[in-house]
Amino acid sequence: MSADVLLLNRNFYAIQVTSWQRALSLVYLDRALVVDEEYRTYDFESWLELSQAIAASPSGFAHTPSWKIAIPEVVALRMFERVPRREMTFTRRNIYRQYGYRCCYCGKRFPSSDLNLDHILPRSRGGRTDWYNVVTSCIPCNLRKGSRLPHEAGMKLLLQPSRPRWQNSAALSLKSPVAIKRSWQKFVDMAYWDSQLED
Ligand SMILES: [Zn+2]
Repeated sequence: MSADVLLLNRNFYAIQVTSWQRALSLVYLDRALVVDEEYRTYDFESWLELSQAIAASPSGFAHTPSWKIAIPEVVALRMFERVPRREMTFTRRNIYRQYGYRCCYCGKRFPSSDLNLDHILPRSRGGRTDWYNVVTSCIPCNLRKGSRLPHEAGMKLLLQPSRPRWQNSAALSLKSPVAIKRSWQKFVDMAYWDSQLED
């Protein structure tokens, strides 16, 4: 049984998977609260008290010579600023993910081997390499567009350039293979499941 803990932000949005040691220390430091399956929250003292009263805990117990404490499965931060914001890095893979492996011009879905990156405003004309000027394109659309602006090539963007919402980074921090616990599911954003399907 893995003792990973799902870390939520103050709005109960999944942001990270962390170790039970870190989760418990956040609770101990009063930076986070334990969240149970009914969305009830516990501070360290009340969780410790509850732990004495229960015989079983899905992730087991942590013991010291004098007490035991149930290892929580979900904890929620009390403040936003406790976890560094994780920016989605600007990589080919993340751009493909951002558009669901679709060509932004024809809207069709492709395996990554059949996708390219396209500068909407071509680099040769000063186009920048950032989330708002680089989109996915299939190879035929890419060839058709060449180094023109979409309207010059008689093309239209079906998917508008966008930057990932930072919340999507929950998907990033979960990308290493972790077993999703049943108690986590209601907190894990759909973006995560989508990204798993694309792999
Ligand atoms: Zn296309």
